[in-house]
Amino acid sequence: MSQVDSTHLSQEVLSGLSRFQVKARRGARLNLDPRRPSAVLCEQEPSSKGTQVEVQTVFLTGAECSFCCTMCDLWKYTLTNPTEPGNIVTQLEWALQHYPASPWIKLYNASNFFDSRSIPRVDLPKIAELCQAFERVIVENHPRILNHSIAEFDAMFDGTLEVAMGLETIHPTSMTLLNKEFSLRDFSDACQHLDALGIDRRAFVLLQSPGTLPEQSVEWVLRTLEFANTNGVRHCSIIPTRAGNGSMEWLTEQKLFFAPSLGQLEDCLERAIDCFDKMIVTADLWDLEQLTGSCAVCLGPRRRRLEVMNLTQKPAAKENLDCNCV
Ligand code: SF4
Ligand SMILES: [Zn+2]
Repeated sequence: MSQVDSTHLSQEVLSGLSRFQVKARRGARLNLDPRRPSAVLCEQEPSSKGTQVEVQTVFLTGAECSFCCTMCDLWKYTLTNPTEPGNIVTQLEWALQHYPASPWIKLYNASNFFDSRSIPRVDLPKIAELCQAFERVIVENHPRILNHSIAEFDAMFDGTLEVAMGLETIHPTSMTLLNKEFSLRDFSDACQHLDALGIDRRAFVLLQSPGTLPEQSVEWVLRTLEFANTNGVRHCSIIPTRAGNGSMEWLTEQKLFFAPSLGQLEDCLERAIDCFDKMIVTADLWDLEQLTGSCAVCLGPRRRRLEVMNLTQKPAAKENLDCNCV
């Protein structure tokens, strides 16, 4: 398969990916309350091929991630200072009081759960106590943050711990452009380490990451999913790469990023759920209306079809729609 060659990236592009440049292109940060989650969401997701479960996601407000991935816009939902001890516990208590209980919980902090600047280590026992009733606790973390806190936190509650990692892509040029600061070897090592501790793995995979040509992007998602499956990942979520953080707009000008379409996401999910016996694959439907190639007539039915495929992990028939998008 031909690809944009990372050895042909110009010096201008490579220097444009520096931390300084990526941060300089950012817009305004949100004004967040350090004692409240930025959002709480309750939704169904597949728990295995053929079963579903209710999951509560608490979007915790804490310190910004110490990495600086080119495509990331999660810094908007973070604080510039280290998280004050006690604030994450207050946020979680508030979420559990105000939203109905679910069997599973995601604690997503727009950073790395095992970075003590974002989630103070001193808060982990109380967080674990609050999570005692959940069957599964899902947190997000960078593959190179592998410290003792992971095993310690896992031992603090009875449910299963699952660590979600942004694998994004195995496309070599795209990995360079994304500045993820880990190699595929690091990702495999992290999976092995977590597996040895009996901790489940989840991964985020980008559709049409920068440096991927539109006609090849579905194939690269499938290759990346295959890599995740080989590494024992339990669930992969396909996320359409989005603009909006300044650097993605800059990569668009460099002709290195092309916004993905709804049709590509449908194609990806349809093919992916057929490929793997055990690994769950879902499409992230957040901001679906921002994708190219849909209109007011087809967006709703196409969203519902993706929701059905996400939940059932089975292909669903396409409706005949009265528009010219598909
Ligand atoms: S590691 Fe995750 S949170 Fe941190 S910059 Fe990268 S994508 Fe964003
Ligand atoms: Zn349409």
